[in-house]
Formats: sequence, C-alpha cells, structure tokens
Amino acid sequence: MTRAPLIAPGVAVMAEVRPETLAAQAMGRVDGATGAIIPPIHPSATYERDADLGYSRGRVYSRADNPTYDTAAQTLTALEGGAETLLFASGMAAATAVFQALDPGDHVLVPEVMYWALRAWLVDFATRWGLLVEVVDTTEPGLVRAALRPGKTRLLWLETPANPLWRVSDIAALGQLVHAGGGRLAVDSTVATPVLTRPLSLGADIVMHSATKYLNGHSDLVAGSLTTAVQDDFWARVRSNLGRGGAVLGAFEAWLLQRGLRTLFVRVRAQSAGAQAIAEALDRHPAVDQVLYPGLPGFPGHAVAKRQMDGGFGGMLSIRVKGGQPAAIAAAAATRLWKRATSLGGIESLIEHRASIEGPGSPVPADLLRLSVGLESIDDLLADLDQALR
Ligand SMILES: *Cc1c(COP(=O)(O)O)cnc(C)c1O
Repeated sequence: MTRAPLIAPGVAVMAEVRPETLAAQAMGRVDGATGAIIPPIHPSATYERDADLGYSRGRVYSRADNPTYDTAAQTLTALEGGAETLLFASGMAAATAVFQALDPGDHVLVPEVMYWALRAWLVDFATRWGLLVEVVDTTEPGLVRAALRPGKTRLLWLETPANPLWRVSDIAALGQLVHAGGGRLAVDSTVATPVLTRPLSLGADIVMHSATKYLNGHSDLVAGSLTTAVQDDFWARVRSNLGRGGAVLGAFEAWLLQRGLRTLFVRVRAQSAGAQAIAEALDRHPAVDQVLYPGLPGFPGHAVAKRQMDGGFGGMLSIRVKGGQPAAIAAAAATRLWKRATSLGGIESLIEHRASIEGPGSPVPADLLRLSVGLESIDDLLADLDQALR
C-alpha cells in the first residue's frame, strides 16, 4: 500500500502512516485548548480583527474561510496525494468551478457517458459562456487523440467508472495525451474514491468528488471537493471563484464530512466486495440480460480498471433487465430492502430506474437499473433482488 505524503502544519505527527490511519484519525489532530480528540464546529460567520486593522489569526470572513473545513480538506489532500483541497456546497458546485475557470473560446473534451446533471449544465450554460464543449468516447484513447486540438484544448474531463454504465477510462494514458497538447486533466473520481484510485498519482491535475456520496457515506449531506496536484494560476482562479462566488460548504456539513471520512476505507472496501458478489450472482440470473460492472472479467473496461483500481472495483453496478422498461420498473417496484432513490454511496442500498430520472434525451437504456450497494448483509440483498426479479 502506498504511503500518504504528510503533513499539515499544526497537526499532530502522523508521518509514515498509511492512508487508512490518516482517514480513521482524520489527521490525528487533538484540540490544544481542551484536549478534545474530535474537532469542534465553528459556525462563526466572521472573525475578530486586530486593533491595527490586521488579521493576525489569519481568517476574515467565513465565505470559503472557515476552520471547520480544515480537517476534512487536509484529510482529502493527504488521501489524494495533492497540494490543496477546496470544499464546495455540492459536487456540482465543485465540478462547474473547474469549467468556470476556463476562458471563452477554450476547447474542452468531455466523456460520452458522464453524470447527467453536469452534462446538462455543460449544454445549457458552459456553451453559452463560449466554451467549445466536445463529447468524445474517453474509453478509446485513439478517439481522444483525434479530438484533441493542440494549444486549444484546455481541459479533458473524465469520470471513471462513469455513471451509470460504469465505463472505464485510462487516466494515465489520457493524461499524457492531453498534457502533450498543453491541456489539463480533471477526473470525477466520486465512484472510485481515493480508497481505490488516486488520479493525481496517475497524472491528473485535479480530482473532483461529490462528497455527498462515498466520502461522507451516510446520505445526510450534500458537498463537493476539488483537490489539485499543484497550486498554479488556474487553481488560484478556482479558489478565487469559490471565495467570491460563494458556493461554500456550511460548517455543520464540513464537520459531518470529516466524521464520514473516518470510516471511508472500511465502507468502500465492504461495498466493493458486496458489489462484486452481487454482480457475479446477477450475471447468472435468468431475468437479467446484462450486468455492467468493472469487476467482471468480461466487462470491456476490466483490464484498465484492474490496472488503475486497487482493492476493488467500487460499490456501483447496473443491470439490464430482460423484458425491457416495464420489467425493469416492475423489479424496482418489488424490492423490499433496496430503497428506490437516486444518489449513491450511502450505507443503505439504493435501486434506481435511471432513464426516467434523467428524463428526455437521456442516453441510458430504458431497461437499466442502477444499484448502489450499501452495508447490509449481501445474502439479504441478493434474496431481495431475487424475489423482485421474477
Ligand atoms: C452525485 C454526483 C455528482 C454531483 O454531485 P452533487 O453532490 O449531487 O452535486 C457528480 N458526479 C458524480 C459521479 C455523482 O455521482
């Protein structure tokens, strides 16, 4: 297991420990004033100014500058092996901040299969601001090479595994391609999490998470994050847009997020093992046409996933149900344990008819059900699917 780089100033010495340990102790900080081993929440909107008008304690106003962010942000920076992490009000706020740091006329490449709300935002807003957004099948490096415009392509956006077909893109290979042309690589790693993939170590410049999902893991907050490999001008623009534009996380959410991060490794490993077992079982199920899961040897992206994912293939899979849309909707209607809801990465298992939540224009097959595997007994989850799929 790789060791995480350390360590943030003012944090108790955690050098030479593994990422699991960093996450479990959320950087090992003990409050100097009280001895509390759990960090406090700072709801304060503002901070006292010095008599000479300075701010010797470093903070001015809680728009993007709240000490409650530090524990979660520093933990994420360490887990991703980056230089700095910014927390946002949602995953979408984090993702769109990357595109908003580009200039009109910049060419950006985005994947054919990606989180639907981001695709919709790109179509509705990014193009209106003058970004030249081009869709490419990022599972084929040759197609990306052909679509790249050297000197003009400023950003390649990846999502891997990508919602909801779980297509896998080769981060290292695509990073080399886009860097050769002078562009940046940003990766939506929400589904892989830093437990399974560390995009920055594979050459990505920025890694994005919907922290709403696995990072928090308990379906009780909405949050997002960006972690950068280096603090360059582009990153300064992203940070400035957060602090001035104000898509900031609340203090209570930031506190909950550090608590969720403490169990990240044990949750993601168990959810990945559960998804693998369910994928293998459903692959043999007579009512299921196809199982989409990177951990299945027959899945098209399996070889790349094996190379860039370490310790599992994630807790998300999709199935295509025999009998088309009516059969898929009937199966989701018949589950008792699996909850019908959107979102993913929580403790409770969720099942979703994806095409109908994405709405008209969705490229998702109508017979597809998306499954987010939680932490219940796999036997119970399988028995429930089995009775629902008849
Ligand atoms: C949920 C999700 C997002 C958006 O995040 P929010 O926190 O809902 O704004 C982006 N990408 C992926 C892969 C997601 O699952």
